[in-house]
Amino acid sequence: MILVTGGAGYIGSHLVLALLEQGEKVLVYDNLSTGHIETIENLKQYGDLVFYQGDLNNYTYLNDVLSQNKIDAVVHFAAFSQVGESVVNPSKYYENNVVGTINLLKAMLNNNIKKIVFSSTAATYGEPVYTPIDEKHIQNPINPYGQTKLMIEHIMDDYNRAYGLKSVRLRYFNVAGADSKSRIGEWHEPETHLIPNILKSTFAGGKTFQMFGDDYETKDGTCVRDYINVEDLANAHILALNYLKNGGETNYFNLGTNEGNTVKEVFSMCEKVTGKKIPVEIKPRRAGDPAILVADNTKAKEVLGWMPNKTLEDSIRSAYKWENL
Ligand code: UDP
Repeated sequence: MILVTGGAGYIGSHLVLALLEQGEKVLVYDNLSTGHIETIENLKQYGDLVFYQGDLNNYTYLNDVLSQNKIDAVVHFAAFSQVGESVVNPSKYYENNVVGTINLLKAMLNNNIKKIVFSSTAATYGEPVYTPIDEKHIQNPINPYGQTKLMIEHIMDDYNRAYGLKSVRLRYFNVAGADSKSRIGEWHEPETHLIPNILKSTFAGGKTFQMFGDDYETKDGTCVRDYINVEDLANAHILALNYLKNGGETNYFNLGTNEGNTVKEVFSMCEKVTGKKIPVEIKPRRAGDPAILVADNTKAKEVLGWMPNKTLEDSIRSAYKWENL
């Protein structure tokens, strides 16, 4: 059985679905602070899924859940992930993301579970020194969110050395899209991400899309990001679990496509996919946005055998189908 923390959230739920489709038993532990019970109820029809509503900071309950179930490995998504909020309210981030993970690792070790796949982020690199970013790039986060993820990476290294806890840290770039059969999708409240925000602007009563900054040093003045499809991303987690199952050592990988797209390119692609003229206004830059963030994914390809195969257009299409349900 695989324990998925944060399995009621956007990326976690896509992994849960992929695991269930492989016939894997899944236990989701989620406090539903940002995830949705409807997603869990929906996922139950696709396989053997048990759900516990709990907080990582409730150690006694967490430890009980781990001791009452036969868990082979953990995939750890549960975290707060809004950069802006982390700047305003860092204690929420350090207490939930860092302390919560320390509790999780303690409960794992207490129950002799020694394999974990962890959701890290490109935000651990901070302002890029070169592009595309490979795993050797210096990690120097510029906000508390990125700091929490980097601290956890360091904790996992120490726990590996001291306790033999094997981890794979997956550093996501910009995750996009929905399940290609529209069974689940991206559901954030409030929504802050680019693609859902553009798509929401196509709906009756939708707000004008706000484009944050068109004066960056990029080919059209807008920020460049590397958009990785959520199903491709889920697949990388399955490969990471297999890697650990086969005795793989603690490791870390970038998950992106090696390709960047500007905000304007994404916007045009959304107009193409929806066939609609989307209302847009140019706003000032958003604080903390680097001009360019693109992954070098060579290591994940070579070591995990991972190959992302969905395009940005695929992601926008699946996201639009999901938004229209
Ligand atoms: N962005 C935008 N309008 C929005 C949301 C995002 O112009 O409503 C821009 C944002 O400034 C960044 C890019 O789109 O350059 C990707 O932002 P997102 O929040 O999706 O992901 P991030 O790069 O922050 O992880």
